[in-house]
Amino acid sequence: METGGKGRQLLPGSINGKDQMGPGPDWTLVRYANPHYATKFKPMFILFRQTLVTAVAFVFAVTAGQVRAENSFSMVVIDPGHGGSDPGGIRGQIVPEKTVALDTALRLQRLLRGAGLRTVMTRSTDIFVPLSVRSAIADAERDAIFVSIHYNASPRSSAHGIETYSESNRGAVLAARIQQEIIDRVSTENRGIRSAEFYVLRKCRLPAVLVECGFLTNPTEAQLALTTAYREQIAEQIAAGIIEQRQFAFPSLAPTHRSGHLVHKNKKQRKIADL
Ligand code: ZN
Repeated sequence: METGGKGRQLLPGSINGKDQMGPGPDWTLVRYANPHYATKFKPMFILFRQTLVTAVAFVFAVTAGQVRAENSFSMVVIDPGHGGSDPGGIRGQIVPEKTVALDTALRLQRLLRGAGLRTVMTRSTDIFVPLSVRSAIADAERDAIFVSIHYNASPRSSAHGIETYSESNRGAVLAARIQQEIIDRVSTENRGIRSAEFYVLRKCRLPAVLVECGFLTNPTEAQLALTTAYREQIAEQIAAGIIEQRQFAFPSLAPTHRSGHLVHKNKKQRKIADL
């Protein structure tokens, strides 16, 4: 018969089952002395930091997305100049502006649709559409830009080159991209981006531009405008400028903006050519 603890197997370091190693360890010291502490708590810190960074990045992305959604566009209102009883250009002009403007605009429509943009034409056949109706068509659209396609005319047959018009600071941004794209590929004079009080631009609350795709009163450019290759090239470059603009936000609209940095064209002359 067992008596007392004689036969008990005592644990090393203990007497009668009691811990004889003194008071418990100083856990403050153990935390820092223990090499496993760093491997246990550091990943938690990294995880926390990564979560914080991800959260901040997410907030920025959402904010940027909203800004982009407000400023970008998915629709292009394409406005082929003139039409029907209004041939465009000036008296005695051999190549009618309305015909080449419509063809270029239809090519632009095809290219933009191919790039996933929605389009609306102010006219798609040889009909007369009043300027007020063109503006109303543009006004009915949201999330859109307005691009008017024209060919130029001048009493001076030597006048040649490409120019793009805008009325607001928002339109000027788009005009600059389109003008640059055309000049990059079409070998002619760069007449720059300009500001003029065209009715369709002045009345349009969308970012709006008017592209003059070459002078039909210039023998060389008139011959070019008669080729499908030239009109396709012009349409491609306008499309490239539009698609490029989708990557960038438009600036806030400046109501009093008069495009002070742009060259102002003789407005009387513009009225003769455009109306
Ligand atoms: Zn015109």
